[in-house]
Amino acid sequence: MNIPFSPPYIDEEVIEEVLHTLKSGWITSGPKVKALEEEIKLLCGAQEVLCVNSWTSGAIMMLRWLGLTKDDEVIIPAYTYSATALAVLHAGGTPVMVDSCEDFNISVQAIRDAITENTKAIIGVDFGGYPCDYKEIMDLVTEEEILRKFNPNSPVQGTLGRILVLNDAAHSLGASYDGCKKTGSETDITIFSLHAVKNVTTAEGGAICLNLPETFDNVVLYRELKMMSLNCQTKDAFTKTKVGGWRYDITGLGMKINMADVNAAIGLAQIRKYPELLKERKRIFKAYNDAFSKCEWAVLPPYNRNQKESSYHIYALRIRNFTEEQRDRMIDEISKKGVAVNVHFIPMPMLTLFHSMGYDINKYP
Ligand SMILES: *Cc1c(COP(=O)(O)O)cnc(C)c1O
Repeated sequence: MNIPFSPPYIDEEVIEEVLHTLKSGWITSGPKVKALEEEIKLLCGAQEVLCVNSWTSGAIMMLRWLGLTKDDEVIIPAYTYSATALAVLHAGGTPVMVDSCEDFNISVQAIRDAITENTKAIIGVDFGGYPCDYKEIMDLVTEEEILRKFNPNSPVQGTLGRILVLNDAAHSLGASYDGCKKTGSETDITIFSLHAVKNVTTAEGGAICLNLPETFDNVVLYRELKMMSLNCQTKDAFTKTKVGGWRYDITGLGMKINMADVNAAIGLAQIRKYPELLKERKRIFKAYNDAFSKCEWAVLPPYNRNQKESSYHIYALRIRNFTEEQRDRMIDEISKKGVAVNVHFIPMPMLTLFHSMGYDINKYP
């Protein structure tokens, strides 16, 4: 038996789309990126979608756009992939870690308890593809008392006038909430990862969904952020190739995190088939559920509760009354049979960087 961990879905159509790009004479950001952005927009119902070269770089850019200083706090779950916290640190803010609930997702009560005058953003993580309680989180940030506490210290924070809600949707492309709405349309900003192991991939990539309230123009913001992802250069390389279009300016300190067309081509071919691929994920997920539901030692992962449905990214199995030693041995035994399983995730306070910064796992039972 050989069941590797999340091999990428590469069929003839993916190869054709990539070849088409390679032969087209234009391999970096251009028409394929634009087409992928449109497909993601259609799939998730976001007002605008901007593709970049990773979730991590996209999150750093959005938090830099928000304008964080060292005293500014961003509430995140302690239980997530490290990028969620690293993005906050790179953008110059302070991550405030809180505990998760039994469904693996950030606790709304813990968020409420952690909000201070310095809170500038909340990042939830749709663990395994199962959406967080975003309705409750959006309601929380617009409560009178929470609004009164808000203390903006950047122009963007001032325009927003409240705590920003960002969804780390690295796992949850295609997941739904409230019955039929899709992740990507539920919070101010949602970021998908298109990394090689995610549900849809561009090898490396990320997609930023914009749904900011009326005080912002999401179309104008899309253009600004696109420029920001290209060193704040007023004309991208594609536009400059046009006759007479050579003159440009650098208007600010941006980043260089644009997605290339050759990468977008992979995702473009995949996303067209995503409804079918998602059905297949669901079928496999249910097969595991059927098998494990017969075992009293198994705690099955959430996937379909409270009008929310997962994107079936990870099958996260918990085992009752198991020690870490037993768990590690079990992973070894399964590996010997040729099946790749792993621990999702090692909570951040248990990692050297965060532990040495003073985050303590005992606070996150
Ligand atoms: C994969 C992942 C990321 C990072 O995505 P990249 O595109 O690799 O930067 C962030 N958050 C979570 C929860 C992830 O699983």
